[in-house]
Amino acid sequence: MTSPYISIRGVGKSYPAAKTDILALEDVNVDINVGEFISILGPSGCGKSTLLKCVAALEPITQGSIKIKGEEVRLPPENLGIVFQRDVLLDWRTVMDNVLITAELKGLDSKSFLPRAKELLALFGLTEYAHRYPWEMSGGMRQRASICRALLVDPELLLMDEPFGALDALTRDELNLEIRRMWNETKKTVLFVTHSIVEAVHLSTRIVVMAKNPGRIATIIDVDLPEDRPLSIRDSERFTRYVSEIRDMFSSLGIIKGA
Ligand code: ADP
Repeated sequence: MTSPYISIRGVGKSYPAAKTDILALEDVNVDINVGEFISILGPSGCGKSTLLKCVAALEPITQGSIKIKGEEVRLPPENLGIVFQRDVLLDWRTVMDNVLITAELKGLDSKSFLPRAKELLALFGLTEYAHRYPWEMSGGMRQRASICRALLVDPELLLMDEPFGALDALTRDELNLEIRRMWNETKKTVLFVTHSIVEAVHLSTRIVVMAKNPGRIATIIDVDLPEDRPLSIRDSERFTRYVSEIRDMFSSLGIIKGA
């Protein structure tokens, strides 16, 4: 048996607070294999972002261990791309220069990444926007540019923290399709934070369903749907069954009332 790409064992995370510390994560256990698309799904405050930050070593854990390829994570992994909810594009740089910044920050020759940047911009329908500035673009276009930036140096691991949370529903659907297509083509390992049940079922190979107070894993669901997932898959019986299963679980945990 091969060892998991990411191994999260007995992880606890508390943030210091004035009276009692906030227990953001308690006894989180999950192994993630190379090439999986894992959604971390749960209500606000259940520790989704905290878990992502701990995997990226942007926050230290207070209990347990997180290993990537068998090595304890202490510094942000080299081969990592991150996309946040709010795109953090630099307004004074063109889209192309925003995408190339990942290479610059790593001390690499950004010119040699031009073909790759062009390829990514084409994949996300941004070819015509390469020389525009972020302030000239819609939220969806900006977030597409952020995804291109995260993918520029071909990271092994892509962490996405509610990347589509601020977008309108139609743009979000479009980006769901684009990210799924990217994953189908590259089979990158993706950890994707969301509080949308539909988005999680549509995108994932597995869903880590979380509950809060304290933040913990309620269950992990294998999503057995075809590789090719057009929007119409959301009407299929199997898809709706996953959605109701998760909704019922949130209802029994008191997270959704009146489900
Ligand atoms: P989610 O992403 O699921 O909304 P978070 O990981 O952001 O949840 O937060 C989990 C809990 O930890 C919440 O109670 C939140 O208030 C708390 N928390 C998150 N970040 C910090 C921080 N930097 N300092 C103190 N408390 C925090």
